[in-house]
Amino acid sequence: MSIPVAPTDVSTPQEALLALFPPGTVLGRDGELVIGGCPVTDLAERFGTPALIIDEKALRARARRYADGLAARWENSRVAFASKAFPCTAVYRLLAEEGLSIDVAGGGEMALALAGGVDPASLVVHGNAKTDAELRMAVEAGAGLIVIDNFDDIDRLERIVTGEQPVLVRVTPGIRPDTHAAVSTGQEGSKFGLTLPQAREAIARLRGSDRLRLDGVHVHVGSQILDTEPFARAVEAVADLGTFAVYDLGGGLGVRYTYDDHPPSVEEYLDTLVDTARKTLPAEAHIIIEPGRSMVAEAGATLYRVATVKRGRPTFVGVDGGMGDNLEVALYGQRFEATVATRVGGGEPYDLVGRHCESGDVLSAGVRLRDPRPGDLIAVPVTGAYSFSLSNNYNGALRPPVVFCRDGEARAVVRRETYADLLRRDEPSDRTRQPPLYDVP
Ligand SMILES: *Cc1c(COP(=O)(O)O)cnc(C)c1O
Repeated sequence: MSIPVAPTDVSTPQEALLALFPPGTVLGRDGELVIGGCPVTDLAERFGTPALIIDEKALRARARRYADGLAARWENSRVAFASKAFPCTAVYRLLAEEGLSIDVAGGGEMALALAGGVDPASLVVHGNAKTDAELRMAVEAGAGLIVIDNFDDIDRLERIVTGEQPVLVRVTPGIRPDTHAAVSTGQEGSKFGLTLPQAREAIARLRGSDRLRLDGVHVHVGSQILDTEPFARAVEAVADLGTFAVYDLGGGLGVRYTYDDHPPSVEEYLDTLVDTARKTLPAEAHIIIEPGRSMVAEAGATLYRVATVKRGRPTFVGVDGGMGDNLEVALYGQRFEATVATRVGGGEPYDLVGRHCESGDVLSAGVRLRDPRPGDLIAVPVTGAYSFSLSNNYNGALRPPVVFCRDGEARAVVRRETYADLLRRDEPSDRTRQPPLYDVP
């Protein structure tokens, strides 16, 4: 199978960079980035930095492209957003409004999804180590599908369910896609799902259950997959397990983080899935797909402020965020591009680093920046997926706000944390003095 190459006929460094930002991003007055109609200097002034900026229209357009693309190829189908890629109320609400189902891993995501107005019947509940409390919560909420990941899930659901609960069985087909080991799940020895022989045993047990209704099977082989081949293999593997009403084919389509990444388009990915499904699955089956990363990544960008430019070999450009708001570099070596937000494209290579106390706290090594100076804004594109979910308080960092931009209007859908938030869970009697709670923007 040939690896499709994304259009790279962009001629200038500026155009190359703009192509990584949400569709519709332009250069505004004095050459600054304008995302969702909002100049980034205005966004930084109003919401502070670091800040995660989401182009709302780009996100909605992506959801429609997925849903319409799948429905056009296989009518009896639906798209479930793998919400661990961006679990905040506003995103649940927006994607539910667009008609998507929602995939949750555990009680926390379920609580957020329900708060965001997601129909419980559209929930697909995952987890390789679900607790009794989470299973009970899913059953009581009326979750549409619970995905069986192990035999204990079956035992425990048999005890918890009183009426009838539709379930899927998650299969690990022994497929190792070409991606980072930390985000590969389909290989032999994976902690996720059941091997093919185990899955057959689980299927037989579930067929004898009067409380658990076996609707079908599920497969998800990994994330940031830049080739269509593993997806075709995964469909063939679940097809081998027999005839079911539902086949959930997982997520995992990769996204274009850097100029060197050439992921399949949504349409090429869907063509592969559905072509394989036509050859191997029953024509009347219901197909579910679960995109996470590729649903939200390109709608987002992170804004930082340069704190220091430390000259040397290499020259470090240090910003006011880092692994507290983007853990993907440290976790699995994800590469990102970046630009000075008011002087876009071109320049010399610098090491763009964060403010955290680890040498691995690098946002982008050797990235070209045009004359970066303290006080400049830096924009890192394609941060819509997993950066919010993996954000943390390392070094007492305050987790950044999420700002939705649309037609020149901006609103914070998640506010920045405050120092008071950092203290909120600590036992007040351990506090020997009221600390100065300086306001941060
Ligand atoms: C993470 C995950 C997904 C989504 O993966 P992406 O690479 O973000 O598209 C889908 N299904 C399951 C079960 C997952 O764990």
